[in-house]
Amino acid sequence: MKCRWSHCKHGGEVSKEEAVHVGNMYYHKDCFQEKSNIDQIIELYKTRVDPDPIIPALRKVINDLIFKKGFDSGYVLYALQYCMDNGWNLRYPAGMYYVVKNDSAKAAWDNKKRIASKKEFQREQADILNDKPTGMLDLEVDSFTPTNKPRSGTNRFSSILR
Ligand SMILES: [Zn+2]
Repeated sequence: MKCRWSHCKHGGEVSKEEAVHVGNMYYHKDCFQEKSNIDQIIELYKTRVDPDPIIPALRKVINDLIFKKGFDSGYVLYALQYCMDNGWNLRYPAGMYYVVKNDSAKAAWDNKKRIASKKEFQREQADILNDKPTGMLDLEVDSFTPTNKPRSGTNRFSSILR
């Protein structure tokens, strides 16, 4: 099958068994995750920064960050949410260049990754104990939902560090 993600990292061919199937489109799992992260970045930008952004300009910045500068699309999404929750006043798509450079956002993301990989490890161990085949995990498109309410007080990070 042809992977329909225009930035496919695997040469464009995906086997039907490993493909994520959306409508009549097929994607590699990570290609689909990346596509979906980018969609969510744009949605979040519309919700929290500007309801009517110049989409080509926004896409250009996002593509530049992810495909030229090599930022993880999940991180770009996370950092944008983080900065919005911390009262950043973003006005232009180019502000995203500062968002991804934010040290606190980076530290919080690294921490989240660490917790996630620990959980993954524990789940694999549990699967081995239960004699379940691994590698049959369901597709987990990040259940990251942009929120629209400002957070305050000491609990403001609880939802992103979950
Ligand atoms: Zn692909």
